[in-house]
Amino acid sequence: MNHYFNQIETITFYSLNLLQFMAKIGLTWHGHACFSIDMGTKIIVDPFLNGNPFADIKPSDVKADVVVVTHAHSDHLGDAIEICKANSAELVTMVELAWALSEKNDWLKAHDINISGSTKVKGIKISAVPAYHSSSYNGAYAGPPMGVVIGNNFRIYHAGDTGIVKDMEVVGDFYKPQVSLLPIGGHYTMGPEEAAYATGMIRSKYTIPMHYNTFDLIKADPMLFSRLVKERGSSEVIVAQVGKEITFDESGKRLE
Ligand SMILES: [Zn+2]
Repeated sequence: MNHYFNQIETITFYSLNLLQFMAKIGLTWHGHACFSIDMGTKIIVDPFLNGNPFADIKPSDVKADVVVVTHAHSDHLGDAIEICKANSAELVTMVELAWALSEKNDWLKAHDINISGSTKVKGIKISAVPAYHSSSYNGAYAGPPMGVVIGNNFRIYHAGDTGIVKDMEVVGDFYKPQVSLLPIGGHYTMGPEEAAYATGMIRSKYTIPMHYNTFDLIKADPMLFSRLVKERGSSEVIVAQVGKEITFDESGKRLE
């Protein structure tokens, strides 16, 4: 009888470990708005690496199943096409940009979503949410920019380039992201004060600042942002270090 229970205990122990192993989510910042997300499926968002002074990797180093691009500006579209080609990765982006890129690259597998639309790529749900900004591709209209919510049980909101939008309240209420990635560089997007205000609408457990200090025009202090959010008590700020993976379990708890 005891032996039987020991066996059950052993099986349960290994199953739990396996579950924990499978559910670990990794997030790595590569400077600017570029993040790698490892949810079992490997995703890279806004892969601006060539020309990004803080990039810790080259486009040829990237291993990705999915490439997500929030809008067509070169500091977001970046090296997306090269990475898709080298990895046979699928692209997720705004309809007009997806079409323009597919026309130039007939091999490209692009998921063309629009605001409040979702697609499932390699088991991961990716939804487009509003961003208040602009977008153009080679001088031509490239559809509106978007933010994205990525993940099934554990969801990461990458806001793209945006000003404060009241719609962020809907993102928080409806998609309930555990982690938000918000631009804080100012000039083209929200600055630290605006982004701190935005955390009060989104109310995700963790917020990571991005899109700052890459160029002189978008100099901002992440510690000021961190302090302002702390004063509001609206989220916990993690100031990501380039190239250092941050890990979470699927319930939203930070592991390291
Ligand atoms: Zn930008």
